[in-house]
Amino acid sequence: MKVVVVGNGGVGKTSMIKRFCKGVFTDDYKKTIGVDFLEKQLYVPSIGQDVQLYLWDTAGQEEFDSITKTYYRGAGAAVLAFSTTDRASFDALPSWRSKVLEQCPGIAMALVQNKVDLIEQAVVSSEEAEAMARRLGLKFYRTCVKQDLNVTEVFTYLAELHDRK
Ligand code: GDP
Repeated sequence: MKVVVVGNGGVGKTSMIKRFCKGVFTDDYKKTIGVDFLEKQLYVPSIGQDVQLYLWDTAGQEEFDSITKTYYRGAGAAVLAFSTTDRASFDALPSWRSKVLEQCPGIAMALVQNKVDLIEQAVVSSEEAEAMARRLGLKFYRTCVKQDLNVTEVFTYLAELHDRK
């Protein structure tokens, strides 16, 4: 299953993909993985078998309209991500969701608030975040890619949701 990770630049998309597929985290602000996607085999209990996931990074092109149809083509699931410390990344969520649905109607999607380790610098309240999840009709996860909190859970959920569709 192809999985796309979308959201404004700097929310932690590349870090999330690296963390999940390679088990590492670096503080260096590197925009790209250098390849189109990384892959990871994940055992999904409710399906009772391994699912091969192909995680696609936007390669830092998210602020341009150059993320094209190629990026979304064939995607079965999407992570819609924002950062605890970046208000603009939260406000941009509805537009990211529309963009994904335009290219992939019926795709499995989840809302992710990353960088919860920086909660004392939060610019979005938990009520607002939960209201956004309800408004968008998405299951809501809080992650810390840095400390590996809840990352596997997001992808397990997406694999299950995709399987049920
Ligand atoms: P992208 O532009 O969305 O792909 O974001 P990156 O993966 O390049 O991450 C942007 C910055 O946020 C990098 O410096 C990461 O190290 C940092 N970052 C990513 N996840 C976390 C997290 O959970 N906590 C903290 N404190 N920093 C994070």
